[in-house]
Amino acid sequence: MNFDLTDDQEMMRDMFARFLDEHSSMARVRAAAPTGFDSALWQGLAELGALSIRVPEEAGGLGLGLFDATILMEEAGRTLASGPLAEALVAARLLAQLGGEATADLLGRVLAGDAVASFAFEDVADTPVQWIGGGLVAEAVLARSDNDIILVTVPAEARKAEDNLASTPIAEIDLSAHPRTVLASGAEALATFAAGIEEWKLLIAAGLAGIGREALKLAAAYACERKQFDQYIGQFQAISHPLADILCEIDGGKFLVWKAIRDLADGAPETGGAISIAAWWNANSAAKAVAQSLHTFGGYGLTTEYDIFLYNLRAKAWPLIGGDPQRWLDEAGRRLYAAEAAALPDAGPMPVDFDLGEAAQTIKDEINAFFAANVTPEMRATFHYSWEGYNPELNRKLAAQNLLYLGLPKDVGGRGLSAYEKTAAMDAFEEQGYNNPAANVTQMVSLIIHRFGTDELKQAVLPEIMRGEVICSLGYSEPGSGSDVFAAQCRATQEADGSWRIDGTKMFTSGANLSTYVLMLCRTNPDVAKHKGLTMFIVPLKADGVTVQPVHTFQDERTNITFYDGVRIPDSWRLGEIDGGVRTMSASLELEHGGGFAKYQRKMLQAGEALCRELIHRGKPLIEDGGAQARLARTAANLWASELITYRAQWVMSEKKPNHAYGPMAKMFSSEKFLSDARDLLDLTAPASLSKRKGPAEEINMFYRHAQGSTIYGGTSEVHRSMIAEKGLGLPRTRA
Ligand SMILES: Cc1cc2nc3c(=O)[nH]c(=O)nc-3n(C[C@H](O)[C@H](O)[C@H](O)COP(=O)(O)OP(=O)(O)OC[C@H]3O[C@@H](n4cnc5c(N)ncnc54)[C@H](O)[C@@H]3O)c2cc1C
Repeated sequence: MNFDLTDDQEMMRDMFARFLDEHSSMARVRAAAPTGFDSALWQGLAELGALSIRVPEEAGGLGLGLFDATILMEEAGRTLASGPLAEALVAARLLAQLGGEATADLLGRVLAGDAVASFAFEDVADTPVQWIGGGLVAEAVLARSDNDIILVTVPAEARKAEDNLASTPIAEIDLSAHPRTVLASGAEALATFAAGIEEWKLLIAAGLAGIGREALKLAAAYACERKQFDQYIGQFQAISHPLADILCEIDGGKFLVWKAIRDLADGAPETGGAISIAAWWNANSAAKAVAQSLHTFGGYGLTTEYDIFLYNLRAKAWPLIGGDPQRWLDEAGRRLYAAEAAALPDAGPMPVDFDLGEAAQTIKDEINAFFAANVTPEMRATFHYSWEGYNPELNRKLAAQNLLYLGLPKDVGGRGLSAYEKTAAMDAFEEQGYNNPAANVTQMVSLIIHRFGTDELKQAVLPEIMRGEVICSLGYSEPGSGSDVFAAQCRATQEADGSWRIDGTKMFTSGANLSTYVLMLCRTNPDVAKHKGLTMFIVPLKADGVTVQPVHTFQDERTNITFYDGVRIPDSWRLGEIDGGVRTMSASLELEHGGGFAKYQRKMLQAGEALCRELIHRGKPLIEDGGAQARLARTAANLWASELITYRAQWVMSEKKPNHAYGPMAKMFSSEKFLSDARDLLDLTAPASLSKRKGPAEEINMFYRHAQGSTIYGGTSEVHRSMIAEKGLGLPRTRA
């Protein structure tokens, strides 16, 4: 797994960033506005080699990879570079690939920044008059004409300036009216040209990620300085939460570009769909980012004094030269679900890597072998996606094979797997249909006991936990405090002999009917600020004075309300300092905020696809309907983005990189997408999806109910959005 650029790429990015900060300042962008082309900037980019980036070395270029080009494009987007950069990069590469000697002189002038070349999206034989990106300044336009790839030389007088939305140098040109040269003909040439258009989609997508991220940065800075009602506007969640949502979308979009390039490099079968999705996603996410960012500025966002409107307009102008972005989602649907072929560009070297590694495959294989050898059909019949699927016999067997506490360090008695191996293991359990929250919670509690518990407590409880004989629950939430977890009122009072007496009620104590211990957050000092008077304990659930009452949810999941009436525990069962519970609790909450829901999203998508293949709509399988294909593709996009955002959280933790709320981003984003897609697939496959009949319909139905909970337990989406706004965007804190 790697989310880092190489050192050379870092240097290249810094070089372009410095250059563009100076030569594509907002003053320069405004100055270039009438034509949208800054010739001095263009010359400077040529001198830095930017225009040659995708041209092979033998043709006089730098011969760098597609990923390198997206690094440049992201910077160009961030600074709104005035010129048709994506079009020019593609045209230069195509000239080198298809033009040969005949266009060597033109290519030389293009790379030197003395001439601009662009390309046409549509077949000239069908559509002679077309809008051309950079058409105002491009003396040469590459195009397809039936079976040929042609070069049209457009005289200056035919390139008419057109007042347009974002002052970009677009022009509508009659490509049949000017001299043309046939560069190449036949299937291979057509495929090379089509691959150039695919490359353009990724370049534009990267540029849009840069535009969107910078717009968010401008909005966040403004939200930290503008006050209304005596508060910074960033303190209003109506301002901060949408920005937090969009931050996830923008990061997800950038990772989708990276995924498409990774897929290209790997020759993955889904590559064509991944390219279309990257283009569609970034067109949408950038549009949302600039609109919400402009809104953050209130009326000032509309004034031309502020720069945000420039971002707003470019975020539309850059992708729309390629047509309606919705068509890229439709195209993704056809590519993923109707086997439509795509011509693919060459990726070149790709340092970013989402592979969980060989060891991850080994643990998957081990888990699959364990299930094959140990799990009977009767056991399988009891599997459930909640605590209700807890099976004591299986739990012990898993413990005996050291397959129960996979992420727990070896010195605590666990398997000590890396985050990546653990992710792979969780996927394998999910594929087996054995979703085991009991093991995850018990693992977390064990770690807290190990970190904060006394030797006496460790000796009393850890061995039986490690043998898989007992499990633990979490007792944080109360009837009066959920999100505001530190407002807990359940009392722990120290007696004269040093022992503790617990009195109170905990709500949503999932698994308490099955567990032996609960990790409890209790109030030990009611006379100080709420964060300062809390202490954590391990409380035996079989002790006198504990009552467990079921609470049933519409997810078919039982949770509990637990009552504690004069329950006595020794002081040695305290975790951490008296009144120091916030520290202990923060450590345990941190353990909860990192995972995502991609593994459920994948299962749900599989069920959705299976059902679309089964159901008949207007006499044909539903999967053959373009609308259904697009909706499945959107679910795939959300799944991929969720997975990559989650991988990033695991990667920064594993590599000890700076972490800007990446765990909360993974949890919030993936659960929200899980929910919106669950809703959509339920609709798409209705009315069959209403049934709880065994098979994919039942699964969709179950995922719909299950997804609702994912946005609530482990901290609600609102609480996570606040964390993302604070740590990811630097906005002020909104909770007391
Ligand atoms: C199936 C299930 C299992 C669970 N298992 C456990 C468990 O094992 N142990 C345990 O301790 N807890 C558990 N929980 C509890 C869970 O952590 C809480 O439900 C959650 O933290 C929200 O608390 P609440 O339900 O009291 O809602 P509240 O906190 O009352 O929230 C109500 C609404 O107000 C919003 N809200 C609250 N504060 C803010 C804020 N500052 N800004 C914006 N909006 C806000 C919330 O987002 C939510 O939409 C479980 C919950 C469920 C549903």
